[in-house]
Amino acid sequence: MNPIGILGGTFDPIHYGHLRLAQEAADGLGLDHVRFIPCHLPPHRDVPRATPAQRLEMVRLALRGNPAFVLDTREMNRGRPSYSVDTLTDLRAELGNEVPLCLIMGADAFLGLETWRQWRQLFDLAHIVVASRAGALDQAGLTPALRAEFAARRGERSALSHSPHGTITPFAMTALDISATRIRQDVARGESMRYLLPDAVLDYIQRHKLYQEPHESR
Ligand code: ATP
Repeated sequence: MNPIGILGGTFDPIHYGHLRLAQEAADGLGLDHVRFIPCHLPPHRDVPRATPAQRLEMVRLALRGNPAFVLDTREMNRGRPSYSVDTLTDLRAELGNEVPLCLIMGADAFLGLETWRQWRQLFDLAHIVVASRAGALDQAGLTPALRAEFAARRGERSALSHSPHGTITPFAMTALDISATRIRQDVARGESMRYLLPDAVLDYIQRHKLYQEPHESR
């Protein structure tokens, strides 16, 4: 049974960093497909960012044409912020307990894992696969609890399909220094975002005049 990848994010907007992360995880880890799960954020009128519907549409546009990438709207549909542990529990109820699930994240997100709600419970639901430049995690940046967890759970790529959950498996990813924050700032400054994200997303941002306010409030 090939593992299923899960990539959660704000996707405000989705960019090539996210898409390469998913592609290299899919190729390197032999994933059946990757589910992109945009998170729900309460809209706030002072914040210059896209609405949930706009973020969703940008993800839809970015995934078009790749059958291995699937848009999963479950967090948005809830209409309130959800925790990863709840989303994974939901996915388990739908997909069963046998299929390996791989929660994909960048090394920056992994460093903050300890702040996630019921973070240790994540390992009862999924593997955590962490992208890093050389395929090795910089352990110096890990908190003692995360370092201990990593030492106990460190997994090999080839073993992901042998168990449904429980490992922390690093994999190598081409370094792409792209962030949604930087893209929003570029738009506000009137700078070009070409080649940082798919043209269809770029067109959407321009058509809907997104991210034009100069201040960045998060
Ligand atoms: P923001 O700048 O608004 O914080 P972001 O670009 O970091 O956004 P998120 O939606 O917060 O994007 O990220 C979702 C996931 O994608 C996280 O696991 C994050 O580590 C990963 N990610 C984001 N950008 C990159 C990148 N350039 N390379 C690898 N992983 C990335």
